[in-house]
Amino acid sequence: MSALPVTVLPDPSVISGTSLSITPLRPRGSRPAPPSERRPLPAGRLDGASAETLVEVARQANRDLEGRPAAEVLRWAIDAFGGRLCVTSSMQDMVLTHLASAVAPGVDVVFLDTGYHFAETIGTRDAVEATMDVRVINVRAPQTVAEQDATLGARLHDRNPDLCCQLRKVAPLARALESYDAYATGVRRVDSPVRALTPVVQWDAKKQAVKISPLVNWTDADVDAYIEKNNVLVNPLLDDGYPSVGCAPCTSRVADGGDVRSGRWAGRAKSECGLHV
Ligand code: SF4
Repeated sequence: MSALPVTVLPDPSVISGTSLSITPLRPRGSRPAPPSERRPLPAGRLDGASAETLVEVARQANRDLEGRPAAEVLRWAIDAFGGRLCVTSSMQDMVLTHLASAVAPGVDVVFLDTGYHFAETIGTRDAVEATMDVRVINVRAPQTVAEQDATLGARLHDRNPDLCCQLRKVAPLARALESYDAYATGVRRVDSPVRALTPVVQWDAKKQAVKISPLVNWTDADVDAYIEKNNVLVNPLLDDGYPSVGCAPCTSRVADGGDVRSGRWAGRAKSECGLHV
């Protein structure tokens, strides 16, 4: 794909030439014997398409796929992009990963390993890797938390959470997505007012990739029903007072009946890490 002249985010002054660690936790081919043979995904029909083409494809697909079932959206995505499609996951509930693994066994699942996750989230990541027919891509920031503390001071998340999210989430994801033409997210319109108008398919100019949100029309009841019906893996914190799970320093328990995302950056104006805005 040839890139459109749109600036991507990472601030060179803060990632200073160090390379990101983007590591498959288990290299393809070294898995335990799977129920279905895991193999590299074939190329999609849009492999090698220009950014200009992808902009138009996203526009048309959004018209065609609005209101369509999530599995149909994912089938379109895998047909279009093949191995150039990934799923992004925060390891909260694994609904989208479960669906994607059924439609496209062996699909890459990108996880942003910020260094600040709850142990339960890391455990969920490892359980996904061990039990689901996907390849987990563990993406880390150029600096460890200790290195960041040494250069920018401790607890940056308290003093400047936007910069912390930029360094540990937004820039690493942008760099990781350079290996893909499209990414699927679990964003839903009911998540928050900021997400209420999310298209099912859109061109993400910042990341120079097609962004696909197959669950965009799902309600909380839809998610719960899918989890129950399919016995889907979920982060245990969801049953421990955390209806939305992010980094440990920025995630609080929410009282029963409280706003689902009110535990994220509680007491601050911030409500998004910057990945979806
Ligand atoms: S959620 Fe908090 S700890 Fe995680 S990257 Fe953002 S500011 Fe840093």
